[in-house]
Amino acid sequence: MNKKITGIRGMSDLLPDETPLWQFVEGVLRRIAAGYGYREFRVPVVERSELFKRSIGEVTDIVEKEMYTFEDRNGESLTLRPEGTAGIVRAAIENGLLHNQKQKLWYTGPMFRYEKPQKGRYRQFHQFDVEVFGYDGPDIDAELILMTARMWQELGIKDVELQLNSLGTPASRTAYRDRLVEYFAAHRDSLDDENRDRLHRNPLRLLDSKLPEMQPLIAAAPQLTDSLDTVSAEHFAGLQELLTAAGVVFSLNPRLVRGLDYYTRTVFEWVTDKLGAQGAVCAGGRYDGLVEQLGGRPTPAIGWAMGLERLIEMVKLAETPVPAGNPDVYLVAVGEAAGRQALLLAEDLRTALPQYGIEVNAGGGSFKSQFKRADKSGARLAVILGADELANEQAGLKNLRHETEQQTVAWQDLIAAIDGELTTD
Ligand code: ATP
Ligand code: MG
Repeated sequence: MNKKITGIRGMSDLLPDETPLWQFVEGVLRRIAAGYGYREFRVPVVERSELFKRSIGEVTDIVEKEMYTFEDRNGESLTLRPEGTAGIVRAAIENGLLHNQKQKLWYTGPMFRYEKPQKGRYRQFHQFDVEVFGYDGPDIDAELILMTARMWQELGIKDVELQLNSLGTPASRTAYRDRLVEYFAAHRDSLDDENRDRLHRNPLRLLDSKLPEMQPLIAAAPQLTDSLDTVSAEHFAGLQELLTAAGVVFSLNPRLVRGLDYYTRTVFEWVTDKLGAQGAVCAGGRYDGLVEQLGGRPTPAIGWAMGLERLIEMVKLAETPVPAGNPDVYLVAVGEAAGRQALLLAEDLRTALPQYGIEVNAGGGSFKSQFKRADKSGARLAVILGADELANEQAGLKNLRHETEQQTVAWQDLIAAIDGELTTD
């Protein structure tokens, strides 16, 4: 035997047993986003490396150590997208979607980050995201959050908590930055090498540190809320009022800065204590400066991203019922002639009854082994063709869920009989 080739660490195969749950979750998210008036946008998973450096920021975990960057055959530096916003903004500018227009968009797909793989943290993971362009007021911030709250409700997820913060304008951030540098510089000796290095390059990142020994220092650090500019403070108050009116519970977390550089004003995270260390299920915020930073005209923007692996874990914990996605009817056909007839019969049934899934037994087998497969398929009804049925142009009909007698039905009555059996079931 040849040596097996394995998959890549931190990149999972999604097995057929798991896909119904994924399809259910994705279906709910798509339906809700579409219902709020958001439209799907699809962009490539590979972009120029420069795009991520300029948007996410050079001094961030993602750009410093998590990107899958490579040269293509032309010697151009490309990167597998570590997040979606940068590519969406690039594509929205390039396709003229932001020119005198507002946009409400969603997208989903794989993201790639070279992280230490562990539960809830992978190297290929999936996000569902929304991004909105051209809306300035706190009403759209509130709408984005209300949409996520509705998603939790429809997915049956309960144990998530909303945390909010405002990072203010770039100017109030700069003022805050100076205070932070002063504060952390006074505690230089307590910083590890990485954080000491970042102190002057990107001090806000220190607040995002996950190191346990950093936590007391972070807790005592100055708060941005104290140096927030008036316009941002009003925006933030407006958002809180709208959320309160809508009955959305939240807490203010002045340490919430998010791991990317492009955020301004509102930032938020939905967190849970049910998933161990990887507690952020959904995260987002405003990035009013990013469109301009990437070569477009100044355009207010806001978005969020959900980690689907973590979301799926929450849905599993909530034990939300998930549609199985199996066939409704299984055709049992014993003998070569019956097998051939079953293929044709199934096509007629599929045309007449497109609302039902119809699986045909493949690969022959005895009645006993075919019935076993029929049970395993999850179908509710077996249609049976043997030599006798074939000779009489009839089929057997057996309900696989209830202990009722098998019926015999003429071929011309089969469609009505199947429909009757499945609708009364
Ligand atoms: P974390 O603090 O957990 O590293 P993050 O701030 O880096 O998260 P974002 O860039 O905001 O994450 O991505 C949005 C969401 O994507 C996160 O809230 C999380 O649910 C999910 N996510 C991020 N990185 C991973 C990963 N490596 N594996 C699985 N899910 C992830
Ligand atoms: Mg991260």
